[in-house]
Amino acid sequence: MSVNIILLGPPGAGKGTQAARLVEARGMVQLSTGDMLREAQASGTEMGKIVADVMAKGQLVTDEIVIGLIREKLAQGGSGFIFDGFPRTLAQADALAALMEETGQSIHAAVELQVNDEILVDRIVGRAEQARAAGQPVRADDNAESLKTRLMAYYKQTSPLIGYYHAKGLLRGVDGLADIDAVAGQIAAILD
Ligand code: ADP
Repeated sequence: MSVNIILLGPPGAGKGTQAARLVEARGMVQLSTGDMLREAQASGTEMGKIVADVMAKGQLVTDEIVIGLIREKLAQGGSGFIFDGFPRTLAQADALAALMEETGQSIHAAVELQVNDEILVDRIVGRAEQARAAGQPVRADDNAESLKTRLMAYYKQTSPLIGYYHAKGLLRGVDGLADIDAVAGQIAAILD
């Protein structure tokens, strides 16, 4: 039976990298609200216009919008989901629990990628420099100013989810400072 997991951790912790690994290795389905919002922004929809400014500043988009995006994806069916960047607030976590119940599914684990702030700044600034060097677009929120806001949003709004999932018996911590393969190995051990 395929399992559904949540990847938790601050911006730059490596959620997207590990999600991509899981898609490749296990055929899981990545549900990244960040990617969905960037798609909405790129397609120029009304919602895209509303969220663009909020995202560039590093603030969180409203719960209503992101819950709506996730609800749509789950309504399409399937399982083996990796929730990447969602939930980010307690309200989103409660909404996800309700959606899972409605669709007869459950969350196997909430995997916390544990890192420290210094590494996050290096990784995000590095990601922007790499994109620039490769002539690729740099994310509007990958700058020092937005990063400060994103980190604060993480500590204030998202980190309470660590206690929430701990209380549900679902929290599993992994060392996000280890190299990519080692982190992937730790996550594989949680899934198997
Ligand atoms: P990162 O984790 O590297 O900061 P993401 O791609 O996950 O990047 O998210 C980028 C931005 O998209 C966030 O800073 C926020 O503005 C918005 N966003 C993504 N997911 C959510 C969510 N679940 N709730 C609210 N806002 C979100």
